[in-house]
Amino acid sequence: MAGARRCRAPPRRGGRGLVPAALASAAALAAAVGPSSAWSTSCGPAPRPRLAARVARAAKGGGAAAVDEDWLRDSIGQVDDKEVDRLFSKYDPDSSNSIDREEFQEIAKEMKYDAFRRTALAVLGSALGGVWVGTLGQQYQIAQKLFRGFYASPPAERAMKTFFPTALLANDVNSAVADVLTKRGYTPQNTLYAQSVCPDEINSKAQELVALMQNEWGEAFALGGLGGLPFAGKSGFEAFLHHTPVKGKVLICFAPHVGINTDGAVGSILREGQLKNSTACGAAVGAFNAIRKSDSGGSDLGSAYDAQEKYIVDNMRPLLEGVEDSQDKMAYVAYQTYNIARDLMLDTLKSIPDIYDWCDELTVVGGIMINRNRGGDFFQPLMFETKTKDGAATDLYQQAFGDRPDLAQILGSETKAKQVRASAGW
Ligand SMILES: [Zn+2]
Repeated sequence: MAGARRCRAPPRRGGRGLVPAALASAAALAAAVGPSSAWSTSCGPAPRPRLAARVARAAKGGGAAAVDEDWLRDSIGQVDDKEVDRLFSKYDPDSSNSIDREEFQEIAKEMKYDAFRRTALAVLGSALGGVWVGTLGQQYQIAQKLFRGFYASPPAERAMKTFFPTALLANDVNSAVADVLTKRGYTPQNTLYAQSVCPDEINSKAQELVALMQNEWGEAFALGGLGGLPFAGKSGFEAFLHHTPVKGKVLICFAPHVGINTDGAVGSILREGQLKNSTACGAAVGAFNAIRKSDSGGSDLGSAYDAQEKYIVDNMRPLLEGVEDSQDKMAYVAYQTYNIARDLMLDTLKSIPDIYDWCDELTVVGGIMINRNRGGDFFQPLMFETKTKDGAATDLYQQAFGDRPDLAQILGSETKAKQVRASAGW
């Protein structure tokens, strides 16, 4: 697996810079709402100065909360189904159906507009331009924050804030990690990035942390298997380490995932084109259900043909003691899956004595990806540490994400919360 280092894509710090297709999409949507003195279609998706200033203030202030809400509400009006269909067909001329129509409809329906119709739709157009080309520009990030309050499901928001209290939009996590590591000398050219995430297709959406970090750091070595556990093992880790640039850095992100559906149920999500919610993460919830079934005299657990799931079941069983005291069983299972993934990650790293012959510094980011049906995917950060050959691990968490979440009530005890915080000794 050794070989010459491949060229990296140019860095896109914080996703700045829209690709031409997104520019075209946004300009086209601006054009669709008619010529306007408030909007010049020839200058791409950049908001006019007054709006730009508001948007910049909103982004700086951390999102929708900082927006002048009255202004926004006054600025937007009702869009009917016909208008949605017209816009949708206009911007999907090849009928590729690549736009997320349901989300588009949801946003458009809930937007009210009159005097500022063109401006509001143009910003929305910029947002959707990002979706269409499967990438995330700065305007997408700003518009996502501006508009998510209009279409994110309140029960899902409440559940996320209750059980994953310091979760951040995936964009913000990616930017925070990049900012801290850039100051430490990490660049896309000198850093080799690896990730350990569940192969579930909902984790490969353009707005998920997986795609954002890969885009940020140029390429990604896949270490993960079911549940986001680093099943590549010692051989996989060694192969990855041997690809590190000379005197380079290594960045690893590991992240189990959990869905929160629009009803606010944790461990569940409505998947593309389906009519009913299904489990997420299926491997983690499946392990929980299998243990419960086995405890009550049900079927066997795992088999020679299900090695990864068997590992999860075997390691989750002892961690389920205390689940009844938690505030939500599925949130509890997500945190235990994180514990299992972290221990396997750090134990595997400890099993490789010559890590720092291959790199100067190694950083590990860990947490739980939160898949959402609407309003963007989130990430609950739980670990961000770095280590050099001679030094002990340095904790970068506070610098990047602020205070750690208090998980004692959520998980039912301080002991359980401590287990999630633990990471020393790698
Ligand atoms: Zn999964």
